[in-house]
Amino acid sequence: MEKLRAYLEEEGIQPSYHRLKILEYMMNHRTHPTVDIIYKNLSNEIPTLSKTTVYNTLKLFVAKGIVQELTIEEKEVRYDADTKPHAHFKCIECGNVYDIALESPIFDTETIEGHKVIVCHVYLKGVCKDCFLKNGKLQQ
Ligand SMILES: [Zn+2]
Ligand SMILES: [Zn+2]
Repeated sequence: MEKLRAYLEEEGIQPSYHRLKILEYMMNHRTHPTVDIIYKNLSNEIPTLSKTTVYNTLKLFVAKGIVQELTIEEKEVRYDADTKPHAHFKCIECGNVYDIALESPIFDTETIEGHKVIVCHVYLKGVCKDCFLKNGKLQQ
């Protein structure tokens, strides 16, 4: 908790209790949660937490660059505390979003064909290995 507090202060973010708890959740759950999931999991422990607070906190974290916003699905924004360049794979069967360690010069591109790049996301969709195995077994 002290480490997280120092981290937020370093980034110029006032380390309120709610912000610390949300950051802690993000650090411990690398599953790219949505606002709803974070709220659902923290609201029991923190009765004073509102969905708006979760939303605003994540917006602040994104603006400060300590959290990435993933819009792999139009209706569902997910958040990722891992801001190192990596790709994301969404399974169309189970809906999980997996981190993919992809090394590509695309992540370091600052300008492309005269356009200035601000954010770069690489999204892949398909059937994850777990679902693929499960489906394979069912068919046999
Ligand atoms: Zn799957
Ligand atoms: Zn990720």
